[in-house]
Amino acid sequence: MSATTALIIKTTNFAAIKHKNQRRKDPEKTPYINHPIGVANYLVEAGVEDTDVIQAALLHDTVEDTDTTIEEISSVFGQQVASIVAEVTDQKGLEKAERKRLQIIHAKNASKQAKLVKLADKLYNITDLERSLPESWTEERRHQYFIWAAKVVKGCRGINSRLEEQIDQVLTRNGVEDPANITLLENELHE
Ligand code: NDP
Ligand code: ZN
Repeated sequence: MSATTALIIKTTNFAAIKHKNQRRKDPEKTPYINHPIGVANYLVEAGVEDTDVIQAALLHDTVEDTDTTIEEISSVFGQQVASIVAEVTDQKGLEKAERKRLQIIHAKNASKQAKLVKLADKLYNITDLERSLPESWTEERRHQYFIWAAKVVKGCRGINSRLEEQIDQVLTRNGVEDPANITLLENELHE
């Protein structure tokens, strides 16, 4: 077996253990680990061959949603993977709405590796939302999520046309007209 294959299995196993008690918000309460594996799979399907990016995709929600720290990721998987995960991790302690606003603002300044993870993450979530509405969500909340995703994606364009095309198809099918040219509000341009 190649060293890369072994590393991907080690990373998948780490994420599965960390997310073992979590479920997605869909009505079926899908195991959470389906999400990071699916995000990594979108990247592979889109031709991404950078192992650090695939590992960061597998780990991308561990720091935000579990007791994992960036230092732990750095010591197990190295500084490069840890730095991509850090870039896609919201600052804990901030209000949810503020975190979402900062994602829009920070996307354009992210590294190419982090932008790839963000694109695949948003593609997975909007595809999930198109498939089914989480319990307690209104149609309006889903619509607002599509709009927000389009704004984050706007800052990540120009690095993988396949992911962007897939995202644009889902968004336009769900009422976001011309997602590539979505207008950002004044407070979504600067911190
Ligand atoms: P959301 O409430 O926006 O939930 C979406 C997030 O949940 C995704 O980004 C994804 O994150 C995760 N997720 C888990 N399961 C699914 C699934 N099946 N489909 C799609 N996404 C899933 O996120 P937060 O709880 O972080 O934010 C709350 C914010 O939502 C508030 O601050 C407010 O801005 C907004 N809100 C809007 C309302 C409205 O009606 N417009 C009402 C209430 C809140 P991940 O990739 O990390 O798993
Ligand atoms: Zn995610």
